[in-house]
Amino acid sequence: MKLTVVGCSGSYPGPDSAASCYLVQEEHEGRLWSLVLDMGNGALGALQRYVDPLALDAVLLSHLHADHCVDMTSYYVLRKYHPTGAQPKIPVWGPKRTARRLARAYDLPRKPGMEEEFEFHRYKEPFRVGPFAITPYEVDHPVPAYGMRITTGEGEQTRVLAYSGDTGPTDTLLEMAQDADLFLVEASFRHGDDNPPSLHLTGREAGEYAAKAGAKRAVVTHVPPWHDPDGIFAEARAAYDGPIELAVAGAVYDL
Ligand SMILES: [Zn+2]
Ligand SMILES: [Zn+2]
Repeated sequence: MKLTVVGCSGSYPGPDSAASCYLVQEEHEGRLWSLVLDMGNGALGALQRYVDPLALDAVLLSHLHADHCVDMTSYYVLRKYHPTGAQPKIPVWGPKRTARRLARAYDLPRKPGMEEEFEFHRYKEPFRVGPFAITPYEVDHPVPAYGMRITTGEGEQTRVLAYSGDTGPTDTLLEMAQDADLFLVEASFRHGDDNPPSLHLTGREAGEYAAKAGAKRAVVTHVPPWHDPDGIFAEARAAYDGPIELAVAGAVYDL
């Protein structure tokens, strides 16, 4: 499984990165399968550096805050009006009311909204997309929000990627990221600030969850540009003994 950080800027795009977007790929039955996790502000532009955007097999939205979904409005245009013709529907997974939210974001009538371009699914049970087995986990954020555990392969070839999405502290992260090969974990707050509850993790909490979950590697993401990323990353690194990095746009991880 290959993970490419397309955008990792927290809460809004920054000078060096789009907002949240991660490309996850795997060879399977003679072709490359591509999933995108989140499609935040600026993501569709950056995505074109790494993959033909028409070749995506599915989009998984962690939640419906703009910094995780708003570039679906542009992706809709790309698929609907492409000179090679309207593209086949692909699945888009998200919380309840994803179709309605995206129609509103584009200022489309609710019906059909984007339902002729995308096949909308709501997170409930584990599901599959080609070689990817995906288990969604509801996390702690002001709107319905999900993290996910994505598994490929079997036996010794099994690989696990966990993605926190946006969340405040919750033990759900321990199950989601248990023994994961890579835990992509958000850290938006600084330890010691007067942080609101049920919203985001501090750098220290991100490191602590990675350690408690037994994740084999951690990548800290979603640091907002108004904070010094090195400070937040230092908190996480101090709380976790394993290999840990700060996400940067364009980083590639082979699991
Ligand atoms: Zn966010
Ligand atoms: Zn959010």
